[in-house]
Amino acid sequence: MKEIYQELGIGETVYSYGAKFEKKLKERFSEIDETAEYNQLKVIKALQKHKVSAECFMATSGYGYNDLGRDTLEEVYASCFKGEAALVRPQITCGTHALALALMSNLRPGDELLSPVGKPYDTLENVIGIRPSKGSLAEYGISYRQVDLLENGMFDYEGIQKAVNEKTRLVTIQRSKGYQTRPTLSVDKIGELIAFIKEIKPDVICMVDNCYGEFVERQEPLEAGADMIVGSLIKNPGGGLAPIGGYIVGKRECVENAAYRLTSPGLGKEVGASLGVIQSFYQGLFLAPTVVAGALKGAIFAANIYESLGFPVIPNSTESRHDIIQAVTLNSKEALIAFCHGIQAAAPVDSHVLPVPDEMPGYDDKVIMAAGAFVQGSSIELSADGPLRAPYAVYFQGGLTWYHAKLGILLSLQKLFEAGLVGL
Ligand SMILES: *Cc1c(COP(=O)(O)O)cnc(C)c1O
Repeated sequence: MKEIYQELGIGETVYSYGAKFEKKLKERFSEIDETAEYNQLKVIKALQKHKVSAECFMATSGYGYNDLGRDTLEEVYASCFKGEAALVRPQITCGTHALALALMSNLRPGDELLSPVGKPYDTLENVIGIRPSKGSLAEYGISYRQVDLLENGMFDYEGIQKAVNEKTRLVTIQRSKGYQTRPTLSVDKIGELIAFIKEIKPDVICMVDNCYGEFVERQEPLEAGADMIVGSLIKNPGGGLAPIGGYIVGKRECVENAAYRLTSPGLGKEVGASLGVIQSFYQGLFLAPTVVAGALKGAIFAANIYESLGFPVIPNSTESRHDIIQAVTLNSKEALIAFCHGIQAAAPVDSHVLPVPDEMPGYDDKVIMAAGAFVQGSSIELSADGPLRAPYAVYFQGGLTWYHAKLGILLSLQKLFEAGLVGL
């Protein structure tokens, strides 16, 4: 084993350092495997219930009327995530698109959107119109209110109580911390928040941005009272195989509203050819529970290694996990770049290229990104990025297998070690 790691650039010192932690994490990893086992069975149960068969994998074109594969997949998603209905489409281009669709189709002029968990994911600022933007909710006369989390990461119940008003129509709750430093919300916590809000206003729609959270726990937010969950297929539920797509699952009315917006009033879910990608959606969903387990192990492995070397990590080495993102504060530009070089060098695709920091639209500082993915931009595959500014935090996530995630983390450590940025 040591030899093949050596052939991939991992020296003896780094190998042994990693091995020590892997041993220590055995019990933790077996808990993750158990969650994966439960979720694997949940997916199989849904596939069987809806009698998925070879005909479901046939490509349709044109209008896509009577697309058995597409319609059955939506039933599978609804069962798996415990919703009444689902919209799972290659025509939903990404997570932001799925979220925009869910919001724009379920809000009307004069309504108000509330985020009780602070600032939403960056790209949603344009959708909502927090940053003035063409086509935003704000342009359509939909207002927005936000209640930040308290210093200690808890919900500001008092603030939320005050913020809910006669205009409040939809509440958006982001499960993952995304690229912020707040804690990620567990499904239980989301359930508590929803119960509180429904108590104040029972008919409000509670939507959860489920990106990066799918299959991390045994329960999903619809089971905790959410009306709608939304996510991307090039993250967790696509299992690394879906080449595009997004989903919305939940109350039938919410999903139908979204379908009429995605296609057209009157057409809704009836059109939308699946063009031959649908088999990868099925197969990706089937693999997703174990893929998520691999990514989680990688995140925990990294948290343990880097915390032991004195770098602040979020989440820390021992706390419970509710998404697959790991942040490591590397404290210097050199360390951030070295880390990303290691992740890139471990990739199955483009391992020979060297990422360099560069300008990015929407960022004030240069950003470095490491990714060598089969699907462009797929962040269920191992990737890392960070802006070149103090405190030089790197955010990384994914890994279709634990072994690949492990190699990536060991190579990142190797690069830091070789550059004299850590002592082992
Ligand atoms: C990734 C992500 C999004 C946006 O998804 P894209 O596919 O990048 O458009 C939204 N919210 C959260 C929490 C995410 O992690």
